[in-house]
Amino acid sequence: SQRIKIKALLESEQTDIQVLVKGWVRTFRNNQFIALNDGSTNSNLQVVVDFENTDPALLKRITTGAAISASGTLVASLGKGQKVELKAKVIEVLGDCDPETYPIQPKKHSLEFLRENAHLRFRTNTFGAIFRVRNSLAFAIHQFFQERGFVYLHTPIITASDAEGAGETFHVTNFDLANPPKDDKGEIDFKEDFFGRPTNLTVSGQLEGELGAMALSDIYTFGPTFRAENSNTTRHLAEFWMIEPEMAFYDLNDNMDLAEALLKYVIKYALDKNAEDIEFLTQRLLEEEKQKPQNERSEMSLTEKLQFCLDNDFERLTYTEAIDILKESTPNKKKKFQYLVEGWGTDLQSEHERYLVEKHFKKPVILTDYPKQIKAFYMRQNETDANGNETVRAMDILFPGIGEIVGGSQREERLDKLEQRMDEMGIPKEELWWYLDTRRFGACPHAGFGLGFERLVLFVTGMGNIRDVIPFPRFPKNAEF
Ligand code: ATP
Ligand code: MG
Ligand code: MG
Ligand code: MG
Repeated sequence: SQRIKIKALLESEQTDIQVLVKGWVRTFRNNQFIALNDGSTNSNLQVVVDFENTDPALLKRITTGAAISASGTLVASLGKGQKVELKAKVIEVLGDCDPETYPIQPKKHSLEFLRENAHLRFRTNTFGAIFRVRNSLAFAIHQFFQERGFVYLHTPIITASDAEGAGETFHVTNFDLANPPKDDKGEIDFKEDFFGRPTNLTVSGQLEGELGAMALSDIYTFGPTFRAENSNTTRHLAEFWMIEPEMAFYDLNDNMDLAEALLKYVIKYALDKNAEDIEFLTQRLLEEEKQKPQNERSEMSLTEKLQFCLDNDFERLTYTEAIDILKESTPNKKKKFQYLVEGWGTDLQSEHERYLVEKHFKKPVILTDYPKQIKAFYMRQNETDANGNETVRAMDILFPGIGEIVGGSQREERLDKLEQRMDEMGIPKEELWWYLDTRRFGACPHAGFGLGFERLVLFVTGMGNIRDVIPFPRFPKNAEF
């Protein structure tokens, strides 16, 4: 017969049928009961071994981590916690696993330990759940955009531009770094390099995405982006995935509506599709919370937090309004936010973002109209306000426990304003001639945003460290596998 995945088998609840399953042994009790897992679900299938009629040498090889196949009859289970079990007729060990040296034991490992063994951590319930949720979120994102007629556009990974201008690029070259060709002045001669110019890994597909939107109307990218983040945080990776929709004829309100709808859609999708995994992660988090002092525990469970996010409108306010709130607030006892001494015009730090989201509004927040000086060159400029403040049509979406999850804006479509801003910021116009062409030939109002995929997975899984929600995390001094 054909192999059946354990999830399908447990869901069907059929009995008295012949089945073949394959997977990895989680535990083997009393020479009789195998807890078998094949990654389709965290629920193990109990495989009952007829140990009196099984070769003792084979029994010895059924150890935690071993790959086996088992066939026999699916019967109603008398044990607690499972409806069916497999009465095995034939068991075969496909791959032995030495219990003495196997790092993943049937006990709870710390996340730090599993990070050091990231090549094996897929085999734990926690990471099984995380990566199945991650998979569903990725699928739901495509589904959301496809249902709305967006075109999935592949933007280049190797580029010559740094859209964010933050100088966090990784260089790409095929030079022999020990001996690069030099020009007359003794400087590295990039004309001799593979692309005939300096290039880098993309930090964002936005600029190229805008080119697509200026013809296809609505596009989205969903690919890896790279930033040489010089900080070791629990929210930054050097390689992360970003979803970047770009829409012609959208203003900032349309942009906010789309982002909010997208986030709600994919969270709902995961809640439905991965109910079991999210319940597992919720319980895991509750256990973790029990270690904390009462006053630091969160008021809502993970499932409640996700549901709450679906049931409530995101709070929308301007940066300036947010600053006013922060100025008046006393986060710890009588102490005010130290930084606000600097006042209007500086970027919010994560403690401010978290205060707004977690303490003040207690729900997701969209901040708009940031000071021009802290945002990228391509954002649409507002009229100078009565106080002489210069702002741009930016939006950041802030999530509880995460901080910034989305950054976006209405784009500056007016060529003169855009060029003026580039001059002010010292961005060479001739290098972005192709980008400026969109403003020369049929420019129109448009908007877009970037959703950090791993930050979304962090939120939905309730994990605390972004390195735990991507299969192969890239961060400073870490790229072994
Ligand atoms: P932050 O302020 O957190 O550093 P950013 O403002 O530099 O983020 P954007 O350029 O706005 O980031 O990128 C869009 C989105 O990509 C962010 O809102 C965030 O969700 C995600 N993101 C940015 N940098 C990283 C990173 N290094 N690792 C993971 N996700 C990231
Ligand atoms: Mg950043
Ligand atoms: Mg930011
Ligand atoms: Mg941002």
